[in-house]
Amino acid sequence: MLLMTSLSCALLMGSVPDRPNILFIYSDDHSAAAVGAYGSQINETPHLDRLASEGIVFDNAFCTNGICAPARAVVLTGLHSHLNGVRDNGGRLDQTKPTFPRLLNEAGYNTAIIGKWHLKDDPVGFDHWEVLPGQGHYYAPDFLTPEGKVREAGYVTDLTVDKSIAWLDEDWDREKPFLLMCQNKAPHRGWMPGPDHLTKYDGEEIAEPSTLFDDWTGRSEAASQQEMTIDRHMYEYYDLKVPPLDEDQQLQGPDRWMDNILGRMSPEQRAAWDAAYGPRNQAYRDSDPKGDDLHRWKYQRYIKDYLRCIASVDDNVGRLLQWLDENDLAENTIVVYTSDQGFFLGEHGWYDKRFMYEPSLRSPFIVRWPGMVKPGSRDDHLVQNLDVAQTFLDIAGVPAPAAMQGRSMVPLLKGEDPEGWRDAIYYEYFEKGIHAVQPHYGVRTDRYKLMYFPELDAWELYDLKTDPDEVDNLAGLSDYEPVQARLREELDRLRLHYLVPEALASGEDQSSR
Ligand code: CA
Repeated sequence: MLLMTSLSCALLMGSVPDRPNILFIYSDDHSAAAVGAYGSQINETPHLDRLASEGIVFDNAFCTNGICAPARAVVLTGLHSHLNGVRDNGGRLDQTKPTFPRLLNEAGYNTAIIGKWHLKDDPVGFDHWEVLPGQGHYYAPDFLTPEGKVREAGYVTDLTVDKSIAWLDEDWDREKPFLLMCQNKAPHRGWMPGPDHLTKYDGEEIAEPSTLFDDWTGRSEAASQQEMTIDRHMYEYYDLKVPPLDEDQQLQGPDRWMDNILGRMSPEQRAAWDAAYGPRNQAYRDSDPKGDDLHRWKYQRYIKDYLRCIASVDDNVGRLLQWLDENDLAENTIVVYTSDQGFFLGEHGWYDKRFMYEPSLRSPFIVRWPGMVKPGSRDDHLVQNLDVAQTFLDIAGVPAPAAMQGRSMVPLLKGEDPEGWRDAIYYEYFEKGIHAVQPHYGVRTDRYKLMYFPELDAWELYDLKTDPDEVDNLAGLSDYEPVQARLREELDRLRLHYLVPEALASGEDQSSR
């Protein structure tokens, strides 16, 4: 608050110190478990690790609703999904709500968004936008621009950063500070590696998570009802890159799209793709694995493709950092790297996200802010994507609308321990349909997590200290009654605090339930 006030005064007096540029690098489905700086056991991310060593790593960064479009709407508006219009991927952003890019733009920032957008209406509040329609494509993606749709030859992660650098080089109005939102499609499903990394991890075995063969014993029915297992819910052609042997075979589900997806490639790209996958697929057919062996094979195919996609993300983070160095802008540019939510990398036998379990709830969140952030520092306060809008507004000295529901992370960035920081986060998930994950909501403290599945009237409770893998559901156990009651009270309080309509309508005094 102090910073905001002093900056605001300075602005009025015309003696403002240079407001920093903001480079927000956003990835899609990048699990913290696949970032070196978060202790990855499965890959290396030298450029993200450089960012971390020069900045601060948030060890407890969480989303509010673990799915793509809703997470983006939360970041833009600083409002929970139940207030911003985007409860699920079918929702529409309520354009009457202020967004931080629009407020920064009005306050004199030159604003641009490039890459994945995933909201239904055109971007508002940006001087420049080039965004992927919907999920976008990995190869030869289309970009939507104010002038219409353009198809670009190339690989989406490279193109997103090519375009970002081109905007900085050619179009950024250097009279103004910039806000650049560089938003990757990667490493979203269907995990198509770029030309530079098609053969990475060949001949290697990636470590399996300890819960790859989880049978969900003791958890609510939601855990066994889902349709996101590596074992049973991956499509052979679309997910696993194994084309059908019989060309006349009737393809099902996303497999029906794969010929067209591959058909977007240039002849050179296609040749490189076939050279990488052809021999692997032949070996797979020759060995013809079954049962647990097939499960393991699928995990290896999936995780390697996922990590290959991240290798391109990391390379391109490096390109952006290099551009800042070469243009003497590193000192006055805040760089944030995060992801819309995490992802299951085989934990509980799953891919995808949605559930409030740690692998999808948690995001990487790394900030470099020279002169403000202590290089190589870490912070374990509970932060959420809900805080991004107010943080950027604070950094720019722009007052945040009172309705925004997060909190500026600026004191945390300065290494402070601000009084009254939240000691619990609220999570909600609404989407029904693909992957069959039950709607649920819950609360997480530094130690415990309580989740509620209303349509099953089922609870799950975890002690993250003794059970970090979340396999031992303690809900309803007499020893944990006091803990559960306390968390339940906190959950009710948070639902009222965040103005959840259902809680307000029922006057939700659930302490009596
Ligand atoms: Ca996502």
